[in-house]
Amino acid sequence: MPRPIHATIHTAALRHNLERARRAAPDARVWAVVKANAYGHGIERAFEGLRAADGFALLDLAEAERVRALGWRGPILLLEGVFEPRDLELCSRLGLWHAVHCDAQIDWLAAHKTQVPHRVFLKMNSGMNRLGFTPERYRAAWARLNALPQVDEISFMTHFSDADGQRGIAHQVHAFHRATQDLPGERSISNSAAILRHGGEADVRLDWVRAGIVLYGGAPDHPERTAADWELQPTMTLASRLIGVQQLQAGDTVGYGSRFTAEGPLTLGVVACGYADGYPRHCPTGTPVLVEGVRTRTVGRVSMDMLAVDLTPLPQAGIGAEVTLWGRAGSGAVLPIDEVAQAGGTIGYELMCALAPRVPVTALA
Ligand SMILES: *Cc1c(COP(=O)(O)O)cnc(C)c1O
Repeated sequence: MPRPIHATIHTAALRHNLERARRAAPDARVWAVVKANAYGHGIERAFEGLRAADGFALLDLAEAERVRALGWRGPILLLEGVFEPRDLELCSRLGLWHAVHCDAQIDWLAAHKTQVPHRVFLKMNSGMNRLGFTPERYRAAWARLNALPQVDEISFMTHFSDADGQRGIAHQVHAFHRATQDLPGERSISNSAAILRHGGEADVRLDWVRAGIVLYGGAPDHPERTAADWELQPTMTLASRLIGVQQLQAGDTVGYGSRFTAEGPLTLGVVACGYADGYPRHCPTGTPVLVEGVRTRTVGRVSMDMLAVDLTPLPQAGIGAEVTLWGRAGSGAVLPIDEVAQAGGTIGYELMCALAPRVPVTALA
């Protein structure tokens, strides 16, 4: 028998979350962002649940090829554009739309030989200071692109640094609109946080929204709002089983570094899941976990292949008992990935993306 750890991708939940994103940004077309192998879900496994999207957005050319190989004939957008001139050949061949964020990418396009002009998304750096032309340099970049025979339609995009938080998006929305106001073309500025929090505003949702974490059931602004608050369903369950039980007495310690000391008698379950499966080692004692659908806590340090849980609420649980590290238990009980991430000092995005290759994954209808 293989080690009992297993991940499940919930196709119906992906479909539900996509619909939820659509409802939040009425009339906008939706890019399903499937970068990083569909946030760790697997592009091929996630595709069925996301095929009602208007397009797929990603970074990696090999991932774009995988989406085309699934039979997708609609739009595919390379969010970072191309990385070297010859990538443009693949864009021509597969009909990929691509971001243009720097002068070098315009130079490459100008030198590119193609029969089919490319659809491009000109990226503005409106304050994130990662990729894109500043508002001052944006029009000059547009004029250069617009003069190229290799370029078909030009669309406009920018990315928010604070759509989930205190600083908000108003300054970036303003900069974007001011710099693009009389330029003809479609526009895309919203990520998941902006879709959920501002999708009702026409000057924010615009023509295309870029839905990432919302599709995978994570709350982009956790813990201010939870996935349940946003009516999102978990799309990934990481589950395993108890492979050992220990009876501790007062003074006994647990795991590497003896980071936990029992204050009295305690029944401990040992779970076949560790950091080599993608469970964060940073999660301290007290991180929430479900055993047979009942909420309890982890105890001691997470090791490579195992972690320990407190069985106080489930004295009957023995070897083979179901453990849900995140996602949905057999009983239907849900442990939001965001809560586990928060305990480990990170965000749900990172946990999904870090699901380890050694964990077998199946997609459920
Ligand atoms: C990853 C990404 C998104 C999606 O972000 P979420 O917060 O997951 O919705 C949108 N736009 C760009 C440019 C991205 O890189």
